[in-house]
Amino acid sequence: MKIDLTPILNGEVKELPFSFTENVPAQIVDDRFKGLDMQTGGDLTVNGKVRDISGYYELDFSAALPCVTHCARCDRQMSFVCECASHLIASEDAERGEDEGYIVYSDRQIELDGPVYEELSISFPSKPLCREDCRGLCPVCGADLNDGECEHVKNEENDTL
Ligand SMILES: [Zn+2]
Ligand SMILES: [Zn+2]
Repeated sequence: MKIDLTPILNGEVKELPFSFTENVPAQIVDDRFKGLDMQTGGDLTVNGKVRDISGYYELDFSAALPCVTHCARCDRQMSFVCECASHLIASEDAERGEDEGYIVYSDRQIELDGPVYEELSISFPSKPLCREDCRGLCPVCGADLNDGECEHVKNEENDTL
């Protein structure tokens, strides 16, 4: 996902909107979402704009990736959309690369893959829940308590987390 900054660097426009929709290959998921129980369930969409703020450039984007994972309580397969948003200052100074809140561009192009996948992996829930009040599994017999109570939990509050 590359943004060509030429029109804004030349002063032709003050605002440069962009939009990407793309398939995320399994290899990228392995690399970028290392250690997460996660498969893609559709295309990644990224929308945003670069703005010329008299002398520096602001980059805003939001991203959404449909994901398939398993509920942390009941282990059922579940789908949800992982979303994130970010606000960055675009700089040509390579030394800014390590600075929080900056993105470095070169050859008049911003490569958006890094920040998008970083924000998405930060936004990915550490304990995804199929629903807010998922009842989870019985710690004794393993019954899915969303389907009904087993004899072990009939008279007690259940919270396996
Ligand atoms: Zn669940
Ligand atoms: Zn039970």
